[in-house]
Amino acid sequence: MTDTIKSLAALLAEGKTSSVELSQDYLARIERLNPALNAFVTVDAEKTLLDAAAADARRASGNAGPLTGVPIAHKDIFCAEGWLTTCGSKMLSNFVSPYDAHVIEQFKAAGMPCLGKTNMDEFAMGSSNETSYYGPVRNPWDTDRVPGGSSGGSAAAVAGRLAPAATGTDTGGSIRQPAALTGITGLKPTYGVVSRYGMIAFASSLDQAGPMAQTAEDCALLLNVMAGFDPRDSTSLEREKEDYARDLNQPLAGLRIGLPREFFGAGLTGDTARAVEEAINQLKKLGAQTVEVGLPNSNLSVAAYYVLAPAEASSNLSRFDGVRYGYRTPEYRDLTDMYEKTRAEGFGPEVKRRIMIGAYVLSHGYYDAYYLQAQKLRRLIAQDFVEAFKQCDVILGPTAPTTAFKLGEKTADPVEMYLSDIYTIAVNLAGLPGMSLPCGFDAQGLPIGLQLIGDYFAEARMLGVAHQYQLASDWHTRAPAL
Ligand code: GLN
Repeated sequence: MTDTIKSLAALLAEGKTSSVELSQDYLARIERLNPALNAFVTVDAEKTLLDAAAADARRASGNAGPLTGVPIAHKDIFCAEGWLTTCGSKMLSNFVSPYDAHVIEQFKAAGMPCLGKTNMDEFAMGSSNETSYYGPVRNPWDTDRVPGGSSGGSAAAVAGRLAPAATGTDTGGSIRQPAALTGITGLKPTYGVVSRYGMIAFASSLDQAGPMAQTAEDCALLLNVMAGFDPRDSTSLEREKEDYARDLNQPLAGLRIGLPREFFGAGLTGDTARAVEEAINQLKKLGAQTVEVGLPNSNLSVAAYYVLAPAEASSNLSRFDGVRYGYRTPEYRDLTDMYEKTRAEGFGPEVKRRIMIGAYVLSHGYYDAYYLQAQKLRRLIAQDFVEAFKQCDVILGPTAPTTAFKLGEKTADPVEMYLSDIYTIAVNLAGLPGMSLPCGFDAQGLPIGLQLIGDYFAEARMLGVAHQYQLASDWHTRAPAL
């Protein structure tokens, strides 16, 4: 099946298929496979086909853009007008958004039909998609295993070919880690490149949206759609529009790849270590050279993140109070009782844990001891990268410490779950771009992810490195038998 965004766009341009036809094919696949995978929370064929018919009409009138007519799935964290937008929570289980997120507007403007809203960890808190109110998503490579999280529905949809691409968000690894665990390519841009307007907030100083697809080339084309200044997000960056596909064909000769010694220590073993090593050799054959770099404070990133992210979440999630929208408890005595019952019933255990940690670290007497210390660590962690990028053009390492684990394997121990993001979190704390791409399989046939980290705004170069690797390898073309 020729099913990259790039190849589908070519078929549409040549008139060999229509958007309606393509969308119908994907909807049929969703209907057949979603009951087993649970990748989608909402599918609405009528809406999708209306979008598709409009895309075909636009193409017929000669106004098509490069991706007009190619359908895409959206993580259920993005507000989409007229669509149920749940964020994986009971709290928003009745919330039909009255407006579009900036990201959704951009895809609409590009003429890309929405295939549905994908399942996710509740409020994007998790690494396995098991915290969703809508039940866990299953990994298409082995349905007893998790797809990673929190963008697990998007990852499973792309890996299982239920959608050619999907959007995700990444606060501590939620695009890259599920991309790794499902064998797809996912990119988290530099903080501020994609507007957070209409993207339900978890930890605002870390949240960033990005594309999930089969290839780096597709991610470049999708980022071209998503990126752009938006005055409605105060952290959106006012920069000149750039073409993220411009460096795809740049050769790797002379490229300096930084290998952080902290990423290749005792924690990295077995098949993941081997696959990453082989990827490094492949890149060397393509002309790259390697240099050892240090990220001495990266071992503190998980600790700093689990102070800062809950602190921001406790503030962001205070808006869910049963008053204006979303879930409200059916019976209550007075206003305080209504707040208490609504939040007790509407949030799941992981979200409550984060709210309590966040309120604690921000409280008088603990603020200096925890929140302020974590902010200082964040600065040190970011500074490590500034130093490292003086010696290299791109940093490389594993995306995740393990391949896809079994459902239920880590749910009893939150800290064990938090360690799934040990290689990805520092990138969010620093605000840097990072991506994951497939680099092999373990002995059980489960995909392994390779992480690339770029300097600020170096997405195009990073995508170019990934594309050159994908031209020389075929891991990204493997699909699970479904
Ligand atoms: N797994 C991390 C967490 O639970 C990161 C989630 C994310 O990136 N949204 O917070």
